[in-house]
Amino acid sequence: MTDAPEDIDASAHEAHGGGLGSRLNWLRAAVLGANDGVVSTAGLVVGVAGATESQAALLTAGLAGLLAGSMSMAAGEYVSVSTQRDSEEAALAQEKRELREDPEAELAELTGLLAARGLSADVAREAAEQLTERDALRAHARVELGIDPDRLTIPWHAAAASFLAFTVGALLPLLAIVLPPASARLWVTVVSVLAALTFTGWWSARLGEAPAGRAILRNVAGGALAMAVTYGAGSLLGATGI
Ligand SMILES: [Zn+2]
Repeated sequence: MTDAPEDIDASAHEAHGGGLGSRLNWLRAAVLGANDGVVSTAGLVVGVAGATESQAALLTAGLAGLLAGSMSMAAGEYVSVSTQRDSEEAALAQEKRELREDPEAELAELTGLLAARGLSADVAREAAEQLTERDALRAHARVELGIDPDRLTIPWHAAAASFLAFTVGALLPLLAIVLPPASARLWVTVVSVLAALTFTGWWSARLGEAPAGRAILRNVAGGALAMAVTYGAGSLLGATGI
């Protein structure tokens, strides 16, 4: 047995975003989720701080924002990954049917796909035969559909990861507004939020291999704008004495 089928298998897998690619995607989603938690919760608590000095009100608003945001993120992720998984399973089922009904056409198809990856016709045929003999469905899933049938994303895993990422981000402004004395809470929150956004902006730029400077600036500016707007709204509402 040659190594060829294994190598082709691995490169197909990588090309379709498995392995390193999917780890990077997860990491990127985690950084974005945390960033979301920081910005939305900071906007919320800074807005409430514009209206009232009550620590109970700040804690209630921050905690409610944390839970609402993290559950909304988790639910959204669950729905989207479930849908993706449904379509992957449907594609696998169709592949299985085709393999049963017309194995010759499927072998020719796999041969063509492998040849398109740069193998000579003879080697492609040989590789396709070996892959088909070993596990035809798996070979078609990887080479043709770009999915690993043993490693489909589990919807509630993705949901839990989103929930966790948002919660970690949201905890920062929540603690920053609740823990310091009343006179310092606003500035402690603003400074720590902008520092956190500098970090998440830098990190997501690094993951996307983009220049960090502009990414950081955009991220920090977005967070600063969110806090300025909600603080302005909170102050106006607080001044009316409602
Ligand atoms: Zn096929």
